[in-house]
Amino acid sequence: MNLALTSGASEAAPLVNRKVTTQTQSDDQSNSKEADPRIIRRWKIRRLSQRVLCGALPETEWPRIVRCGWSMNALVALLGSKGKTSWSGIEHCNSIWCCPLCSARIREGRRSEIQEGFEASKNLGWKAYFVTFTVPHSISTSLGSSLGGLREAYKKMRRYSSLKSFFSKVEGVITSTEIQVGSSGFHPHRHCIFFTSSEIGEEEVSSLKSAWAKAVVKEGLAKPNESVGVVVKEATTAGISNYLSKVQENKVSLEMTRSDLKQGRVNGKTEWHCSPFDLLDSEVELPISVEQRYKLWLEYYEGSKGVSAIRWSRGLKKKLGVGEVADEELGALSPNEVEAELRWLKEEYRQLFKKQPFALAQAQALFKVGKYEEAQKVAGGELLLNNEPLAKRNATTD
Ligand SMILES: [Zn+2]
Repeated sequence: MNLALTSGASEAAPLVNRKVTTQTQSDDQSNSKEADPRIIRRWKIRRLSQRVLCGALPETEWPRIVRCGWSMNALVALLGSKGKTSWSGIEHCNSIWCCPLCSARIREGRRSEIQEGFEASKNLGWKAYFVTFTVPHSISTSLGSSLGGLREAYKKMRRYSSLKSFFSKVEGVITSTEIQVGSSGFHPHRHCIFFTSSEIGEEEVSSLKSAWAKAVVKEGLAKPNESVGVVVKEATTAGISNYLSKVQENKVSLEMTRSDLKQGRVNGKTEWHCSPFDLLDSEVELPISVEQRYKLWLEYYEGSKGVSAIRWSRGLKKKLGVGEVADEELGALSPNEVEAELRWLKEEYRQLFKKQPFALAQAQALFKVGKYEEAQKVAGGELLLNNEPLAKRNATTD
């Protein structure tokens, strides 16, 4: 597979004090312990996702993720500020499902929005309920049919007259669709935060459960077990602590958005479940072959295509005073908050991306923890710190 970029003439002004080292990630183990390991993992998974998809699909069908990270501008820059990093001058695929880097960036941005919305809802005196909907599935259920069934059943259920009383109290809803995979097939489910004007009673919860079971059966799937098909919890920070402890962060929005943080599990010799990204992580051991892992990844790619992961009901953001931000704008550092910038000419970055991508990953992981000089040692480039003039930045900030 050829990941080479088309060459473009460099329009950048010559950079001074350029110091390109040839050190690689593995040359500098002493720092790697403190760099953020999740970033390196995401780079590795993105690389493999690109390879698997390129290898399996004809070139005309290659998705945008194949080009994610490619240089776009004459200058490419890694930007850092207080535990945050962003890139300018490169392509972002914005695939929340298949690109671990874009997914983390977008999910983190959406997580903050949800947290903001949740806080605002408390000021309005609303209640918030965290509700999870699942559908029964087996190894023979394709992701297309279980995910399609989940989405259609949800739409159908909303029209049921038995839920009139419930929905009359609903001011808005945030839905987050999530997909896990395991020995019993793909497990799509939907987490929702229902914001309501008043409390939801036992009767309404039980109507919700029956309505869900009915809608799922209508979609041709097996009848969900009423105790697990729908799980309702009041979303006070204390009340949902069981959910949140899974990801060890006491924030209501994390369960909704950060499926990329969850870890795979293997029970016994044949039972396992994990996040789809774990399929491409060689450090996550699973009792299936590499070929099976790639096959599942392709099914996941096909099945999640075009499905929106996180959605707010119409008008809810306005009611809660939360602004609209496009996926591609999330996570971008603004020029005035940038503390440090490591930049490369297009061709130089291109070579690194092709031959030493994990040096770039390591640089980003070091930038995340404020080790700017060490990042430069690993990946070269020109380093500009905040006490140096940054006004001549040629690349666009993303
Ligand atoms: Zn991407």
